Formats: sequence, C-alpha cells, structure tokens
Amino acid sequence: MQIVVIGGGIVGASIAYHLNRPEITGGADVDVLVIDRAHRGQATLAGAGIVCPWPSITATGAYLDLYLAGAGYYPTLIAELAAEEYRQRSIGYRRVGALVVSDHEEDLDAAQERTLRRAAGRPEVGAVTRITNREARSQFPLLRPGVDALRIEGAARVDGRLLAHAMLDATPEDWLVRPGLAELTVDDNRVTGVRVGDETIEADQVVVAGGAWTNELLEPLGPGMSVDVEPQKGQILHLRVDADTSTWPVLMPVGLQYLLGFEDSRVVVGATRETDSGFDTRVTAGGQAQVLEAALAIAPGLADAEIIETRVGLRPLASGLPTLSRHPEVGGLVIGTGLGAGGLTMGPLCGRLLAEITLDRQPSFDVSAYRL
Ligand SMILES: Cc1cc2nc3c(=O)[nH]c(=O)nc-3n(C[C@H](O)[C@H](O)[C@H](O)COP(=O)(O)OP(=O)(O)OC[C@H]3O[C@@H](n4cnc5c(N)ncnc54)[C@H](O)[C@@H]3O)c2cc1C
Repeated sequence: MQIVVIGGGIVGASIAYHLNRPEITGGADVDVLVIDRAHRGQATLAGAGIVCPWPSITATGAYLDLYLAGAGYYPTLIAELAAEEYRQRSIGYRRVGALVVSDHEEDLDAAQERTLRRAAGRPEVGAVTRITNREARSQFPLLRPGVDALRIEGAARVDGRLLAHAMLDATPEDWLVRPGLAELTVDDNRVTGVRVGDETIEADQVVVAGGAWTNELLEPLGPGMSVDVEPQKGQILHLRVDADTSTWPVLMPVGLQYLLGFEDSRVVVGATRETDSGFDTRVTAGGQAQVLEAALAIAPGLADAEIIETRVGLRPLASGLPTLSRHPEVGGLVIGTGLGAGGLTMGPLCGRLLAEITLDRQPSFDVSAYRL
C-alpha cells in the first residue's frame, strides 16, 4: 500500500514511525513518503517540550483524556527508540520532573489534588510531593525566594525537533522526507495522491498532518470541507545562563508561563498565546516583553542571561477537540490536527492512532470523540 504523509512535524513523523512497526501493520506491505514544506512557524520546532499534563487547569473532557494518554505513551516510545541500536542520535528527551510553584498555598493544594486524582492508575506520574523553597531552589537555582513547590517526579521535557527526527530516522531509508509544498489531487470524491511542484505522486491513502496549515491543504475538496483548526501564535525565548541546566526540572508557575532547562546551559522561557494571530510569524516587542516579564518575576536571576534565540510557532488550535479521523465523505483521506498547546505531549500517541486509522485497524485508544 502506498501512503503519503503530508507534514513532518511531531504528528507526521510519528505516523511514519508507526507505519513501520510490525505490531501496527500486522505485516502488511506498506510504503510511505513524507512530504514537508517546513513552513516558518512549524509548531514542533518552536514548542517548549513540557510533558506534564496532570496539574493542568485548562484541559478538560476528551482533550484531557488524550493529553493524559499521550503522556502515558511516552515511556513506551522512548524505550523503543532507545533500543534502535543502529542509530545513535539524541532523542532530546529527559524525565527531569516538574515544580509547580505559587505564592499561594491554596494554588498548590488545588494542583496537588488535580494531579493525584489524575495519577490514579498512571504509574508514569511518579511521586507527587510538596517541597520547601530551599529544596526547590536546590533543583532550580534561579527560582526566587519565598515560593514553595509541588514536585511531580514523572514530568519530562522533550526537544520536539530531535524526537521527530529520531522517529523518522527509525523508518526505512527510502521513506525519506521530501521537501516541498504538497497539494491534494482529487478525483470523483477520492484523494488519488498529491502534486509537489510539477510532479504527481499517486497514493492509496493520504494522511494530512499539516498542523495549522491543514485547511489550506483541504481547499481542493471544495467549500465547507474545512476542519476545526486555526493558527495560534506562540513566541518563546531561549536564554543562556552560566550553569549546567541539563537536569533542571520544568518550572511551572500556576498560570500559563513556564521555564525549563535543556543541555548547553539553555533555559527556555515561554510563551505567548496569541489567538486569532493568523499566519503571522513576526517576533514582536510586546510578545517578548510579556514572556520576559513573567520569567523575571519568578526567576529574577535570569536578568543577566544572554538571549540566544527567539522561536515563533503556530499551534494548531481547535475551538473544540482535535481531529483524528478518516474523512467521512472523501475516500483515501485521513486527517490529524488540532492538538493545540499539548501537541508535543499527545503527538506521538496521535501518530500511532492515525497510522492505525489509515490501515483500518482498531485504534489502541478510543478515538470516537475526535472523529469528523
Ligand atoms: C511556543 C509553543 C510552545 C509549545 N509548548 C508545548 C509544550 O510544552 N508541550 C506540548 O505538549 N506542546 C507544546 N506546544 C504545542 C506543540 O508544539 C504542537 O501542538 C505540535 O508541535 C503540533 O504538531 P503538528 O505536527 O500537528 O504540527 P507542526 O509541527 O506545525 O507540523 C506541521 C507540518 O506540516 C507541514 N505542512 C503544512 N502544509 C503542508 C503542505 N501543503 N505541504 C507540505 N507540508 C506541509 C508544515 O510545513 C509543518 O512542517 C507548543 C507550541 C508552541 C508554538
């Protein structure tokens, strides 16, 4: 079966990865081509990479279910990738834990209650403990005095770009990612393949994992065929500090801002949530000020850090739920988008589910809520 995957973000990479796993294909003969335009604003490249859905205030209902399941899938995926002995590149993943911090004890009580309730039956959450400001500062030295913390042992951080590359690297070499802008070719209510430049590529199935650009891709299907997704701009800064930050926990002040360490003395602080941004990918003074102000309020020691990079990503934001679905009216078409602010957490699992949907196999998680 010839399958074209459009999009090389975390979702597209995970679809390709899973289409190469015998437990998903059941031994079926599958050939995959990934096509990626690498748009400026690709969310996977800009994403902070926090995998810690459990204390979330905003996630609810079927979105939360997928978010929690996505975090639960990480240990399996990481173990599989680590076992790919012949490819020795970094996966960009580390289980560093998270510190939820607040000046108000009742905020930490509520975060603890939510986390423990959601941790039931989920060993990946690990220990959930209250720690003093002194203990928290021994783990994240830039945290300001006076705030206590809730430590969540199982939280992790991931470099989305490295993880996507690692998944694509684990597929056969001739499934290479082809750079270019793909257009669907449609005949008699069936997608027959894609056009890239002046080349036409035929396919039995096309999977659209085009993130915030998904509705542009669906235009050839005609009016009224769009799905629930809009770009939401996020600006995020990378700073360099004079310390080894590789094992620092993710710092999550109650609210939407956060700080996390990576290798090479890097601290990532983010991020804006600019709903109705359209496809604007400019770095703006207001956006930078907002992110820096929040970061300095919780970690004043960052004032002396060097700004080394600003990234801008367009989150594929749904007003309702993500879409993980075969198209009900158009043959040969599967769509996966709308993962919003939790897409690096859910993306690997969603890629698996989309691979199963594409092969008409029973998905390993109930996807009925995300069907078109
Ligand atoms: C600032 C920021 C911080 C974030 N932090 C976190 C976090 O801490 N934790 C978390 O879980 N999530 C986070 N996210 C969310 C997460 O990054 C996204 O939800 C996720 O990366 C979306 O992945 P995707 O594969 O659907 O889309 P994308 O990564 O955007 O990939 C879509 C790809 O499709 C390609 N494409 C589109 N149209 C075409 C076409 N016609 N032809 C060829 N290619 C095409 C694009 O070029 C792009 O490469 C964050 C996002 C942002 C912006």
